[in-house]
Amino acid sequence: MKIFVMVDMEGISGIVKASHVMPDGAHYQQGRKYMTWDVNACIEGCFRAGAEKVVVRDCHCSGYNLIWEDLDPRAEYIQGVVERERMPGIDGFDGLILLGYHAMAGTPQGVLEHTMSSAAWQNFYVNGQKAGEIMIDAAVAGDHGVPVIMVSGDDHLCKEADFLKGAIKVEVKKGLAREGAQLLSMKEAHRKITEGTEKAVKKCKRIKPLKIKAPVKLRLELVSKGLLPYRRENVKVIDGRTFETEGASMEDAFNMLT
Ligand SMILES: [Zn+2]
Repeated sequence: MKIFVMVDMEGISGIVKASHVMPDGAHYQQGRKYMTWDVNACIEGCFRAGAEKVVVRDCHCSGYNLIWEDLDPRAEYIQGVVERERMPGIDGFDGLILLGYHAMAGTPQGVLEHTMSSAAWQNFYVNGQKAGEIMIDAAVAGDHGVPVIMVSGDDHLCKEADFLKGAIKVEVKKGLAREGAQLLSMKEAHRKITEGTEKAVKKCKRIKPLKIKAPVKLRLELVSKGLLPYRRENVKVIDGRTFETEGASMEDAFNMLT
């Protein structure tokens, strides 16, 4: 089995503050460690379940957060920026894990909730349904025939993931505010990630990829006007802060927008 892992930072166990996830934040170095440890706990679960190959993409900010020298040597790592593809080389993989993800923009008490950009994005819709990053990435992976088999993050993220039928949800904290949570101990959080991953990888052949009905219509509402894609081809301007695209697949429509 080949497993692809997308790792974000806000839903990592132990992370509660913006200063954990901003590269110039006071607690960022601590945040990087926590992220690296959650990744290692996940990789352990993948190999316990019999995975042959694991590729991890660091997808927070500019993709350079994991501590390379401390990572499990059995996996491979994509770091830094990627160009057009969100999940380079995912074709042919058996499952996708969304590790350390966060709830969509506007979720009350969601730890560091946002959708793609805290500063710029207010609301995002896929075929009229409000969506966060797990929907975006599950749909892009679905275009490649790969199912999301597990998510980890706070309780709000796990609830948002209900639309992912069959996927394992690993709750590592309870969100109490945008920058506050009730945490598990480090050991317990890592145990849950390893066990959840093992379970997910063992059942991955039975989980179906998410398919979004084509044509895929995306609507992006920005926080304030004039930040995004006025002059881009294929972007329909609804008003000064609302834009729409339509494509044959999620990936097509999303690439027009971002
Ligand atoms: Zn992030």
